[in-house]
Amino acid sequence: MQLLKDRIRKDGKIKAGNVLKVDSFLNHQMDIKLFEEVGKEFKRRFADMEVNKILTIEASGIGIACVVAQSFHVPVVFAKKTQTKNIAGDVYTSKVESFTHGRVYDIIVAKEFLGKGDKVLLIDDFLANGKALEGLAALVEESGAELVGAGIVIEKGFQVGGELIRSQGIRLESLAIVESMDEESGEIVFRGDKA
Ligand code: 5GP
Repeated sequence: MQLLKDRIRKDGKIKAGNVLKVDSFLNHQMDIKLFEEVGKEFKRRFADMEVNKILTIEASGIGIACVVAQSFHVPVVFAKKTQTKNIAGDVYTSKVESFTHGRVYDIIVAKEFLGKGDKVLLIDDFLANGKALEGLAALVEESGAELVGAGIVIEKGFQVGGELIRSQGIRLESLAIVESMDEESGEIVFRGDKA
């Protein structure tokens, strides 16, 4: 998606540890006009699929998922992160290792909001090592719902997540795939860029 790639080149900041900061339009301040275009692009890419629910993970996935959901006319459920040791009763749970914080935490979704008959599209802002998507896919599986696919705004193609998720047969659509980024020069190369 050219509009998105141009914006990443213009406003993205490359940090140590393979972290791309896009706080001015995606992760802190949110450019809703751009989000609308992202929503339309996901709708176009998944036009052949039936989706009745979008699932994301708190916190940074929620904003983008809500705008994407407007294109699909479906509700959004977000998995909550919890540190509660004994999670009681009516929730599905799985574990996620955080890329940005390096911790493992539990994520939960109430059983009343996900289950058999649901056709679920996962949406998240970033794909790095694939742990967040794997955790969300595990919740979908546990619930008996059908996983339609996953939509990612920015995939870091030099990390293992994309390959991991695709190798599991999950349909993955990433709107911008960063092949490399250089902290020193600030240069970002996207998959599909001409050499
Ligand atoms: P994964 O689980 O694929 O390793 O990492 C995905 C999650 O980590 C995303 O939900 C996102 O919040 C966060 N993340 C991973 N890499 C980056 C990055 O380069 N920049 C930002 N802002 N978040 C990232």
